[in-house]
Amino acid sequence: MTHLIFVLGAGSSGSNLLTTLQNALGVVIGFLVAFIVIFWLSLIIWTFRDIRSRTQDLLSQILATLLVTVFFIGGLFIYMILRPRQTLAEIYERQLEEESLLAEMTERQTCNNCHARIESDFQVCPSCGQKLKRPCPKCERLLELRWSFCPYCASNLVGAPMQSMPGMAAMQGMPGGPSIPMGGPRY
Ligand SMILES: [Zn+2]
Ligand SMILES: [Zn+2]
Repeated sequence: MTHLIFVLGAGSSGSNLLTTLQNALGVVIGFLVAFIVIFWLSLIIWTFRDIRSRTQDLLSQILATLLVTVFFIGGLFIYMILRPRQTLAEIYERQLEEESLLAEMTERQTCNNCHARIESDFQVCPSCGQKLKRPCPKCERLLELRWSFCPYCASNLVGAPMQSMPGMAAMQGMPGGPSIPMGGPRY
């Protein structure tokens, strides 16, 4: 029904066709403007997220976002040229890598007495005789000097010889003695 009316209207006069074309053009321009506005907003949001992942400086964040807000795509080009090269996550990752590399180099490879090169399985420094590690008395694997327990066989390296002495065990039992274990048998 509406189609029929449209055909009749177009046939009756040429000016009607012109207004229809103008309306269509208006719709197209409307969509185009809407697209550009959405595109512009997306660029602003993208820039804001991007600059936030690259710097914590609030002024830089505001300036970068303003640049794209005012100059649109031109501003984006300028931002891409000037923005910090690495993201904060990349910088952090690189720092971790460098630190672990540094720790490996300093901890593993030199004697802290004479700075001679040593390997991780040396018991003493080959050039100055500095004690580096000791073997576990039970499983004989090499342990750091500061360790109190063997991580491989779980033996107590500090407490083991002291508990074997009977006098020490009695002295340790004395303070708690009268209150708990002796009360039972006397009754
Ligand atoms: Zn040494
Ligand atoms: Zn052990």
